[in-house]
Amino acid sequence: MTNKEIEILVNEKDLGFLATLIAEKPYGLKIVKEDLKSNVEIYYQKKKIGELFDVTKLKNHLKTIKIREKYFKYLLPEEKSLYYGIDIFDIYDILYLLAQENKIVYFLENKVYFPFCLKDFLKNYEIRAKYFYFSLLKFPYEFVSKINKGSFRQLVINSLVNILKQNNLSYYYLPYYPENYSSVFLFRIDGDFATQKTVEKVFDFLIKEELKFTFFVDVKSSVNFLKFFGEKQNEKIDIQLHCYLHYLDKEKEKILRNLFKGKKLLEDIGIKIFGFAAPFGLWNCSLNEVLEELEFSYSSEFGFDYDDLPILPIITDRFSKVWQIPIHPISISRLKTLKFSIKEMVAYYQEYILRTYHKGYPIIIYAHPQEILAFPEVFKEIFSFVKNFSQIKIMTFTEFFEWWQKRGQTENYQEKKFNLFKLPSNIKYIRKNEFYLKIKSFIWNFNRIRKTK
Ligand SMILES: [Zn+2]
Repeated sequence: MTNKEIEILVNEKDLGFLATLIAEKPYGLKIVKEDLKSNVEIYYQKKKIGELFDVTKLKNHLKTIKIREKYFKYLLPEEKSLYYGIDIFDIYDILYLLAQENKIVYFLENKVYFPFCLKDFLKNYEIRAKYFYFSLLKFPYEFVSKINKGSFRQLVINSLVNILKQNNLSYYYLPYYPENYSSVFLFRIDGDFATQKTVEKVFDFLIKEELKFTFFVDVKSSVNFLKFFGEKQNEKIDIQLHCYLHYLDKEKEKILRNLFKGKKLLEDIGIKIFGFAAPFGLWNCSLNEVLEELEFSYSSEFGFDYDDLPILPIITDRFSKVWQIPIHPISISRLKTLKFSIKEMVAYYQEYILRTYHKGYPIIIYAHPQEILAFPEVFKEIFSFVKNFSQIKIMTFTEFFEWWQKRGQTENYQEKKFNLFKLPSNIKYIRKNEFYLKIKSFIWNFNRIRKTK
């Protein structure tokens, strides 16, 4: 390893940068406790080789620099820019641009300037309706986190890689997946109101397909057959908690009662509960507090983040103790609403899998029992498509989480190579007609869960 002496000096309070680096675990990370530091500095053999600036901080420190504010809905990463290899980059917010420059991210000599406060973006918990790309230009939508947090991490990492490259150094990081695999496939089922008969059929189907999966139990609806889950659980069948009552409240006490009851009933029949997936993919800070109190290890809500590596939420000025495992938010019922044919449904997921595989991100989808039984041919196709990739490891949520924990203890660093992901040329259509989605948001009044603390 050539870059043994690389140090990344980060202000201890700069959780934004730390958050991006914690998920990545780059080689040689060093945190300096200097509160006055307003940027991230990169050193090689004790010599400064680069800096990352947050323009909003420049605003406070250097009064002479003119900052222009401009609203951006999204950015489309161009080749040869620092955004390369990133999916559509959602902003829906104001960016701060240096007045004399015309670019979104400036890379001047060895300095990179970001047009936003990373910490604020990573601490954004808002939810909004968004379309997801499909080459047939029929775009399914879902209510998901306003900020796709993985894009921001990728931008920081791309910047670091570039600074190192300028100095003929390489960026090393801990592999995201075990045993040299290039990705993982996780299949999640949310047990929403399914009867025992339905659940049994789903289990039979998945066992026949020889698929590992994680079933998140809707406990109240399953209260008469909880024993079934206890009997079925094994290394291929991971049982975790969806809810007691299929609802996510804003108030901490109510969430606590709901989750405590669900967790206890499952644990009473001998199922160890580590993971949670909230109804409707909703997430708020009260939920995070409850998950910490009840000692959950991970949870999975696209209302917090989606299509990303595991991430630790930032809560006020600290990291959550509970890891977030983001998934792809589009379930088959969203495709059904748009009257997708079976063939189109299969194509949608195949595209998602290919895209995610080339990005080097985990491939994680979810479904409900009723959908699996209504469209078994779609799921068969998805599973066999995944199995064709010898480089994709199929795991359960808990297994992947355990690997993610263990990952920090290995020393098996590898060199970062840019991923092969290329943005489809017509992707801008997906953010074009958002008027319809705005109306939907209004009707559903999902904004009620905004900024819940
Ligand atoms: Zn549900």
